[in-house]
Amino acid sequence: MSPGDPKRENPEELAFDGVSDGIEALPQRVDRYGKAKKGALDIGEYMATLPTYAKQTKRLLSCGDYLVFNHYWTVDKVKLHGASLCCMHLLCPLCAIRRGAKALGAYMDRWEVIKAEKPHLRPFLVTLTVKDGEDLEERFKHLQKAQHELWKRKLRGRGSSLDGVAGAVWSYEFKRGKNSGLWHPHLHMIALCENGIDQFLLSQEWHNITGDSFIVDVRPISENDQVSGFMEVFKYAVKFSDQPAADTVHAWRILGGKRLLASSGCFRGVVVPESLMDDEEGLQDLPYVQLFYRFLAKGYTLTKRKECVPVLRRPGELRKAAARAPVVPSYSAADFQAAYEVRLLRAKVHQPIGKQVI
Ligand SMILES: [Zn+2]
Repeated sequence: MSPGDPKRENPEELAFDGVSDGIEALPQRVDRYGKAKKGALDIGEYMATLPTYAKQTKRLLSCGDYLVFNHYWTVDKVKLHGASLCCMHLLCPLCAIRRGAKALGAYMDRWEVIKAEKPHLRPFLVTLTVKDGEDLEERFKHLQKAQHELWKRKLRGRGSSLDGVAGAVWSYEFKRGKNSGLWHPHLHMIALCENGIDQFLLSQEWHNITGDSFIVDVRPISENDQVSGFMEVFKYAVKFSDQPAADTVHAWRILGGKRLLASSGCFRGVVVPESLMDDEEGLQDLPYVQLFYRFLAKGYTLTKRKECVPVLRRPGELRKAAARAPVVPSYSAADFQAAYEVRLLRAKVHQPIGKQVI
C-alpha cells in the first residue's frame, strides 16, 4: 500500500533556507549554495555538448556567479539581496533551492492564517503515484489528469475520499524508479482536514481513476515539525544529484512551462513571489553590512564587505537619524572578521575568506 517512505529526500538543500537567517547560519547556507552551483555547472557542461540551447546554457553556467547578502546586524538577520540567477528551476539546483524556499515561505504564512481561523484543521502529507513508464510526458499527463478527476469527484458531491479536505497544495515530482529504471512521476500534497483521510478508500478511488495504481500514502504531519512536512511538497521537482544530466535536461524539455505546483480550497490564491531574493520588508531602516561572495574554483569566497547605513529620504529624517545613530564599535571590520572566522570553524565548513577590501 505504501509507496515507500516519503521522507525528505533532499532536506539539506531546502532545509530552513532563509528561515534560520542569523549570521551563524550563513556559512552553511553559502556552502549549500556552492554545492548547488557546482551541480548547475555539471548540467551546463553537459548542455554545452548539445547542438541547441546555447542561450540557456550560457545563463545556466553563469547562474550564481556572485551573491550579495545584507546582514542587518542590530537584529542579526542575513538576507540574500542580490545574485545573478538563471531562474530555470528545473535545470538549476541553485534556483530550485531558492524557488522552493520562497514557495515554502508563502504557504507556511497562509497556513498560519488558516490555523488561526480554523484551529480544528490538521495537515496531512498525501502521496499519489502512477505506474512507472518510458514516456515522461505521457506519464505526467496521466498523473495530472487523475489528480484533476480526484478533485472533480469531491466537487460532484457524490462521496469522495477527499470529502473532509478543506484545502490542499500539491506538487509533482519526477525521477526514475529504482528497480524499473523507468520514469516514476508522483505527487506530494498537504491536505488540511479535521479527521484525516481514509487511506484504504483513497487507494480504491485512486485505482478506479488511474486504472494502473493503487499506491497512495497518507500520514499526519507532526505538530512539532510542520516545516519538515511542508518541505516535502516544496522541494525539487527533480532530484538533480541522483540523476544523470541527460535526464535533467530531458525533464526540463518536457516539463518546462508546465504548472507543477497547484492548490485548492483554503490554500487557493497564495502568491509565490517572483523574485528569488529574500524579503527585506521591515528591515530597510536598519544599518547593515553588505557581504559580496564570488564563485571561484573551490566554491564561494567572501571578496568584499561594506558597512552601510539606510538611505533616508528627507533631510529632517537624516538629521534625526544621525543624532541617534548607534556607534558600531563592536562591529569593526576586524571584529567581524574574527567572529566570522570563529563561526566558520565552529561550523566546520571550509570557507576561504577573500582579500579584505574595506
Ligand atoms: Zn539558476
